[in-house]
Amino acid sequence: MTREAEVLVLGAGAAGIAAARRLRALGRDCLVLEAGMRAGGRAFTDHSLGAPCDLGASWLHDAGANPLTPLAQALGFTLHDTGRRRRDLLLAAGGRPATAEERAAWEAAVEAFDAAALARARRGGPDIPLSEAVPRGGPWDDTAAHWLSAMISAAEAERISLQDYVATLLDGWNPQVAEGVGTLLLRLAEGLPVVLGAAVGRLRWRRGGILAEGSFGSLRTRAAIITVSTGVLAAGAIAFDPPLPDGLQDAVTGLPLGLLSKVVLRAAGEERLGLGPFARLGRQVEAPGDSPMSWLLWPFGRPYAVGFLGGARAWALSREGPAAAEAEARAELARYFGAAAVARIFAPGAVVTRWGEDPLFRGAYSHALPGCAGARAVLAEAALLGGRLRFAGEACHPRYAGTVGGAWQSGERAARAVHAALG
Ligand SMILES: Cc1cc2nc3c(=O)[nH]c(=O)nc-3n(C[C@H](O)[C@H](O)[C@H](O)COP(=O)(O)OP(=O)(O)OC[C@H]3O[C@@H](n4cnc5c(N)ncnc54)[C@H](O)[C@@H]3O)c2cc1C
Repeated sequence: MTREAEVLVLGAGAAGIAAARRLRALGRDCLVLEAGMRAGGRAFTDHSLGAPCDLGASWLHDAGANPLTPLAQALGFTLHDTGRRRRDLLLAAGGRPATAEERAAWEAAVEAFDAAALARARRGGPDIPLSEAVPRGGPWDDTAAHWLSAMISAAEAERISLQDYVATLLDGWNPQVAEGVGTLLLRLAEGLPVVLGAAVGRLRWRRGGILAEGSFGSLRTRAAIITVSTGVLAAGAIAFDPPLPDGLQDAVTGLPLGLLSKVVLRAAGEERLGLGPFARLGRQVEAPGDSPMSWLLWPFGRPYAVGFLGGARAWALSREGPAAAEAEARAELARYFGAAAVARIFAPGAVVTRWGEDPLFRGAYSHALPGCAGARAVLAEAALLGGRLRFAGEACHPRYAGTVGGAWQSGERAARAVHAALG
């Protein structure tokens, strides 16, 4: 049987939820088709550790401008500012705590990285790789590059567009949500017409209307908002009939997903290494190819530690599987505390994220390739079928790309545009 809806929203992540809420507020009849068995997409709060743990998005970046901040507050969620102060980081160099001079050199290298990127971008010229604009050769330059590109941007600086990096630099305060960002999105999705387990495999778009087909059967609709990741689009998981115009397809391939993985280790008992809630660990890059994890320990005083691993090394471990990622995480922690302490303090096993291998996501969040700084605007502005077929999601946001707040805003924007196009 073919269902009918005025507007189809494809995907129930942040962008899809925001789009559906906005469409309903505008009086439009919509249906959200979600391939997975839950809403929230790349925001997911796991409860298997005995306390909420966000395995996808966990910070509300630039919270003062983030649309999710007032929504979370209105629902009574607890926001905790974990700060972006680098002095809170327990920094290691060469297997020991960094000296005061080394810490100062690290902080200077991080500031010099972004300052050089901004200065070079302002000079204009071709959209070069970020790696070509930033300082190199100093003792902390590789560490700063690793932190700001592989860890924060989820891809190596060689693969990142300078102009896009600068345009999407984050600022402001960064709270975490005690109940979880995934929990917040589930609350915001309550009451929406979401069909779970409904993977769209083909989208026939014609002037007369749109037909979505997939595991759920088929759905006829006047308009559609596509919110799946650019990784999913690039993989061809949805067959567009007719195919998307070349310029749009190029924009999708210009915005690949990088990978940020989390490895969560649970405390076996009460021992906490003498560290308080939200303690952070990081270390110097010691040799070419060295790819340190960074750590957030005991968030909200909870009995687990979250290891972060980004970029090429995250992809490699993702392919090798969870056991390899857990082994690397334990070896990383052993550099700080010794293997015996790690074995004593952390229970066997780990929660290891699989965003890279999951066909519903195919990575963590998008970066623009060098030369593709304009791709986000191409995707966000694409208005097929007279504006009735549009794209939304984190990759479409020119300022807050890669974030849950950016995805939310882009979903709302697409909903307003579709509403206007429907007349
Ligand atoms: C490890 C990690 C850490 C992160 N940390 C942060 C952070 O701290 N702060 C922050 O702001 N952001 C963070 N992000 C990024 C943030 O999670 C994303 O930018 C945001 O959630 C993307 O939302 P979206 O709606 O654009 O896409 P998605 O959440 O990917 O939603 C798209 C939906 O489409 C569904 N779908 C896929 N294929 C189909 C199909 N064929 N048919 C139907 N449905 C389909 C998917 O299942 C998914 O639910 C992080 C992401 C990861 C992975």
